[in-house]
Amino acid sequence: MGYYDCGDGRRSIAPDGSARASFSRLLSATAVVTVCGMAGRGEIIAVPILVLHSIGIDLPGIGAAVGGDWRCVLAWVIFSAFGAAHGYYGHCTEIERWKSLQPKGSEALWKCQPDRFLCEEKKAYARRLGTFNAGMAAVLGMATSLLHLQGGHTKMYFDIDEFGIAWYVVSFVVFFTWVEAFAYAFHRLFHLKFIYKHLHKLHHTFQPPTSFSAVAFHPVEFGFYVLGGQMIFFVLPIHPSVMLVVGGYTAYYLIEDHSGIKATAPWPWQPTSLYHDDHHRYFHVNFGQHVLWFDWIFGTLRTVRRTYGEECFGGKGHNGIKAVGKAVDKGAEGGKACALSKIPTRESCSTRR
Ligand SMILES: [Zn+2]
Ligand SMILES: [Zn+2]
Repeated sequence: MGYYDCGDGRRSIAPDGSARASFSRLLSATAVVTVCGMAGRGEIIAVPILVLHSIGIDLPGIGAAVGGDWRCVLAWVIFSAFGAAHGYYGHCTEIERWKSLQPKGSEALWKCQPDRFLCEEKKAYARRLGTFNAGMAAVLGMATSLLHLQGGHTKMYFDIDEFGIAWYVVSFVVFFTWVEAFAYAFHRLFHLKFIYKHLHKLHHTFQPPTSFSAVAFHPVEFGFYVLGGQMIFFVLPIHPSVMLVVGGYTAYYLIEDHSGIKATAPWPWQPTSLYHDDHHRYFHVNFGQHVLWFDWIFGTLRTVRRTYGEECFGGKGHNGIKAVGKAVDKGAEGGKACALSKIPTRESCSTRR
């Protein structure tokens, strides 16, 4: 992974990479990541309801909600929204507290962007918007879960034997790849000039990102991501436990990768947290979520030989070698990004100190 296969960090389970050979550590990491991830999104309640249903357990009121009792639907939706918002707030607060406890002057050791800090005003905005969206995702998650339980609307299935163990195992990879492909394609779409300026720019005002900014998108855009990933249920049979693990993983690392903390992950396919942090620093590059695959294929992986900035649309940056006399790695720093075009005043209130 080269540049994105880097060093020590808070969540780094094995900076030397040794954990990658340990199956038991991967298994326990999967469990921890899934539970934490679920706590950070609406799935904290919605998906476990589906998993419990698959082993013959229906929580109180679920049957009535599925049957159309609106009081039960409302009760579960409200419970889900508050549970998700609370879980998201708790997870992000814990990370931000860890950051605040680090000694001054130690930023170069753990911070992705050691010389840049988001102002308090934008931190608070990310906290409000992120927590609101986590609750909103829970409402959408609960609504679609009840739809799955009604049966017949989607291809979700609840008995592993129905499609066999081989498909069950393969479906983890298929579902993961689907989620990543969807995230890449639509994230890149949201970086088209018009859509970026009217929707996605909001997410990029949090520069450098904080854990709360993980889901701090325009609610319309975030709703699109939440529902879009679920389109696979109309196409392929997926067991809810697959959704639980992959969804938990995605939710967990979405927050970790926005934390601004340099960190590795135990999974051999996953780049370091610098990968997405660089997306925020350089704007129109590194569109993938938790894998580099699609950026490699479509040539949108950041390279130090090119310059990037908020006005450099297209995902490839500019060839800045001639323009600035030497290879540059400035990105948006100091407002000098995009050497070949006019540089607008950056709207982020991040500052050097
Ligand atoms: Zn983006
Ligand atoms: Zn982001």
